[in-house]
Amino acid sequence: MLTERYIKLGSEPNAIRSLFAYGQKRKAEIGEDKVYDFSIGNPSVPAPEKVKETISKLLEEPADQLHSYSQSAGLTSTRQAMANNLRQRFGIDAKYEHVYMTHGAAAGLAITIGAVAAEGDEVVVITPYFCEYSVWIETARATVVEVPAREADFQLDVPAMAAAINARTAAVIIDSPNNPVGSVYSAQNIREFTDMLKAKEAEVGHPIYLISDEPYREITYGDEVPFVPDYYDNTILCYSFSKSLSLPGERIGYIYVSDRMPDVDNVWFSVCGAARAMGYICASVLFQRVVEECVNEPSDVEAYRQNRELFTSMLDELGYEYIQPQGAFYLWIKALEEDDMAFSERAKSQFDLLLCPSSCFHGKGWARAGYCISPETIKNSRVAWEGLKASYQD
Ligand code: PLP
Repeated sequence: MLTERYIKLGSEPNAIRSLFAYGQKRKAEIGEDKVYDFSIGNPSVPAPEKVKETISKLLEEPADQLHSYSQSAGLTSTRQAMANNLRQRFGIDAKYEHVYMTHGAAAGLAITIGAVAAEGDEVVVITPYFCEYSVWIETARATVVEVPAREADFQLDVPAMAAAINARTAAVIIDSPNNPVGSVYSAQNIREFTDMLKAKEAEVGHPIYLISDEPYREITYGDEVPFVPDYYDNTILCYSFSKSLSLPGERIGYIYVSDRMPDVDNVWFSVCGAARAMGYICASVLFQRVVEECVNEPSDVEAYRQNRELFTSMLDELGYEYIQPQGAFYLWIKALEEDDMAFSERAKSQFDLLLCPSSCFHGKGWARAGYCISPETIKNSRVAWEGLKASYQD
């Protein structure tokens, strides 16, 4: 039987995807340069040259081997490369046996949530958050528990999180550098939060898994991103090459179940089982091979830094309020009215300015602008931002 839930999920895509689709259509109607599309997180920086070279080289290999299935968790050599990378960068004793190659962070998160949460459980998320978290949590038949980030600086609000955690809490999801706000949780904030989480585990008498969603790990503007497994043993990382190597359409990333986890074997098997139950046979083998070769390639953050400066100085001149991003490539801008949906709708319909309303991220009164676009589009969008501001002063 068809279910209302899936019909609704399919017929009402999230606001980011709807705006993106609208933008494609509108550009075809009035011209690419007349639509100021800040909707989606498609990296504007091209993938490193080494990605192209590696693909070309791999295509010379016998096709039957290159395109064959791998083990469900991925090729041993690829998983070893991921574990080596974690070892070299963070000094952690990461074993390849606990690395699971996935179709990006999205699949990694859906699998991980399915692995650690079940009906009757609660999963804590920090508002505002990437909207698909709630879809994956509800698919696991668990309940979403929302805790707002600290209002002043969008760091984790440890006392508020402590109040939300109880015996039903199976997991907490954090995302730093953060989409949509751009905040990076400081080492002190992570320390306070994980100390609280350890105390809660002792109190409730079962593990509370910390799912660290890290697609923006490499995209920071100077702040260090604390390595979460150093702070908390029951951590599961969900990493992706969508943003770091600009490969969002290729769907490649990994789950790493911390080797310091007391029950690592069962959690690992549960990850494998959840992936199997969801029909993930294995991640793209071609792209497993690509990231195996390219995992140590640096991300080109400079272009995003320049966009950030260009964009924020323009908005400063026009008098917009926003949160200065420490990482990722989104600007969290105060809407000019309480109703962020109405604000985004006005920007879209009157100025062809495509901004995601904060409601899409379960936050109120803001809009997200992705500045992973060309500097020309940012410059040319000035007229739209001016018009939008003026429209509230009339
Ligand atoms: N998590 C966050 C916070 C994201 O912003 C995104 C994508 O934009 C994802 C997960 C999914 O990324 P992927 O392309 O790796 O599936």
